[in-house]
Amino acid sequence: MIACKQVAKALANHRYYELPWWRRIPMFIHIKLCVMCGEYHSQVVDMQKGMKNYLEHEEAGDVEPAFHLSDEARKRMQKALRDSE
Ligand SMILES: [Zn+2]
Repeated sequence: MIACKQVAKALANHRYYELPWWRRIPMFIHIKLCVMCGEYHSQVVDMQKGMKNYLEHEEAGDVEPAFHLSDEARKRMQKALRDSE
């Protein structure tokens, strides 16, 4: 069993999905079982996965289907993106 500190360090320095499987699996088990940091780190991992998912869709140019946006919501988002540039 790896320590909470090791999980925290690995997640701070790397994206969960970029780690090799032999590092992800012990982390995954720890996050599932640990009462100390499990809940917190599962949120971190979910966030990183969500980010990856978004970036992949963005690169592929099909962000919209991933989010199932209505026309209006999409326009608002596009406007927000333009405004922030
Ligand atoms: Zn822990």
